[in-house]
Amino acid sequence: MAEDIREIWKDLNIDLERHDQLLEALPQVYEEIFLSQENRPKAMEYFDAVVADIHGARIKELYELRKQGKPVLGTFCVYVPEEIPLAVGGVCVGLCGGAEFPIPDAEKHLPRDLCPLIKSSFGFLVARLCPYCQVSTVIVGENTCDGKKKMYEIMSKHKDMYIMEMPQVKDEDGKEYWYRQVVKFKNFVEELSGEKITYENLKEAIERVNKKRKALEKLYELRKEDPAPISGRDANLIAQIAFYDDVDRFTNQVEKLNEELEERVNDGIGVAENAPRILVAGTPMPIPHWKLLYVVESCGAVVVCEESCTGSRYFEGKQVSTDGDDVNDLLKNIADAYLNTNCAIFTPNEERIEDIINKYDEYNCDGVILYNLKFCQPYSVEHAKIEEALKEEDIPVLKLESDYSDEDIGQLKLRVETFLESVS
Ligand code: SF4
Ligand code: SF4
Repeated sequence: MAEDIREIWKDLNIDLERHDQLLEALPQVYEEIFLSQENRPKAMEYFDAVVADIHGARIKELYELRKQGKPVLGTFCVYVPEEIPLAVGGVCVGLCGGAEFPIPDAEKHLPRDLCPLIKSSFGFLVARLCPYCQVSTVIVGENTCDGKKKMYEIMSKHKDMYIMEMPQVKDEDGKEYWYRQVVKFKNFVEELSGEKITYENLKEAIERVNKKRKALEKLYELRKEDPAPISGRDANLIAQIAFYDDVDRFTNQVEKLNEELEERVNDGIGVAENAPRILVAGTPMPIPHWKLLYVVESCGAVVVCEESCTGSRYFEGKQVSTDGDDVNDLLKNIADAYLNTNCAIFTPNEERIEDIINKYDEYNCDGVILYNLKFCQPYSVEHAKIEEALKEEDIPVLKLESDYSDEDIGQLKLRVETFLESVS
């Protein structure tokens, strides 16, 4: 690793020794899960390089931004509107932890019976193992699930935090409440950056993020083809990288990949021909939580869509309108579009059930896997209801629950294999 990045890590107060241990295992795991795949699109090279240098080049960019006084906002949820910091030259960077490594650090402060995403995210911060956490000017939390909102109270002892309050119901009152939160967030970003958010800079930021979401939408559209032109693992990796890469560079690279995938579709080239097509729906799978998709695809299926915040919920229904005459109109458009995300913290959340059933048809699927991170109550309770709805529609469904450890891989494989036999 180049000396200059080590100097930056040092300056960010990273625990260098443990950080080296953390990064050590990555190349081997990545080789096994991603690079060993046959017939990958050439444009995946960019995303491979991003992961290979996961705490390098992008950290340097963010470090420079912060030095210029631009807001670098760490986030844990797709509800935090990235257009707002982007308007003043700042960024949002996703901090959701997907690794088991820092969980023991978190368990010194948090109960063990808590979702691994919360523990991993918290552990990365308190153990000073994540340069993205360290480089963030402020962490923007959001009061979504109970585990996260209580964790934020403890996290605020370690880092400056700003919390967005979420409504729980999407009625008119909920919409108004959320709009006011978006306005408050804009005021906070202005104060932090010392810069004014104007109609012009916000409109430009909206257009840039819309372009990113369009590119992802197109990628998922291409996955509807049979054979799928890209593996689920690769497509999902891109959705994970969306959370922290530079908006414009990422968009260009996804567009480049889409062109290649279009050619593949025209030439009838795909991955895992005649394989069962699976929709995975459920909790987010932050980087490097690649286990589930790897298990499903190594059992001979192809994952064609993830109804997840590291998947379709990241971009669907979130083309923000630029109609309107002033900043408040644009903020209203942002608030409206973001509220289209069907997170299980909302009640009721019937749109999510409809969405999963529609996706099953649109992506020409053979089965649905409802995936839950252990101890995630909102999604596990909701999945019981969704399973019932899918069965009523005669849609084959498998419910799986796991965490970030490798211990249950054999067991997961057995369950997936049995399920795939039943849908083939
Ligand atoms: S699942 Fe809900 S709380 Fe988690 S990132 Fe998505 S919207 Fe946010
Ligand atoms: S996976 Fe569930 S429990 Fe974990 S942070 Fe997301 S909503 Fe909360």
